[in-house]
Amino acid sequence: MPPKLVVGNWKMHGGAEELAEARDLARRSADAKCQIVVCPPATLLNRLDREFEGTRLATGGQDCHFGRTGAHTGDISAAMLLDAGARFVIVGHSERRSDHGETSAQVRSKADAAIDAGLVAVVCIGETEDERDKGMELEVAGTQLEESVPGGADGDSLAVAYEPVWAIGTGRTPSIADIEAMHDFIRSRLIERFGETAGRAIRLLYGGSVKPGNAESISGARNVDGCLVGGASLTASSFAAIIDAFE
Ligand code: PEP
Repeated sequence: MPPKLVVGNWKMHGGAEELAEARDLARRSADAKCQIVVCPPATLLNRLDREFEGTRLATGGQDCHFGRTGAHTGDISAAMLLDAGARFVIVGHSERRSDHGETSAQVRSKADAAIDAGLVAVVCIGETEDERDKGMELEVAGTQLEESVPGGADGDSLAVAYEPVWAIGTGRTPSIADIEAMHDFIRSRLIERFGETAGRAIRLLYGGSVKPGNAESISGARNVDGCLVGGASLTASSFAAIIDAFE
């Protein structure tokens, strides 16, 4: 089995002063067995990657363009992220889907570009509160999964993050039973599509208000192979405590 994967998403937070926090994280997590990735703003990516040199920690981007180069002012390609040191990239985060109107078809193109460039794509899917209230969460996640994940993906090139939109940054989380129901469903869809071996090797992350206080129970949930952490990844002590829970 591949190691568990714990990904921190700094979103639009962090400047040079946060590099000290990252150094502290690398020190605290020196013996961690799970794979740890920090996705800082693009402005910090290369500097953070240098901080992590000689450690087991890796960096990732928070988004990428689907093209390799071209007239796309303000965008960053997957190859550029790789060049800056990244090994992973998050695509289809709900904030990209809502703030920038990204469709699942666009997310799939980005994931394809990421995999082509040699990055691991962390594809995010998840329902809104309204969709869950209507009992549509499996249908919504199933459609997003089908439309956002490119063909030919495997455990070395893809991870899927289930992030219920209503749990992101709210302090609310689904019950463990609800997380397991969703992760079992995603696993079965991946096995149907990619076969038993690849479908089981693709890591399924839970994301949405993961904190030191709930990380232990989430890490023990069936078919949870890691987590995607926003707010709590900004502080070395809280992110390290979450990493410990996923060991
Ligand atoms: C996220 O933005 O991916 C996320 C999970 O945020 P938070 O942990 O702050 O809910």
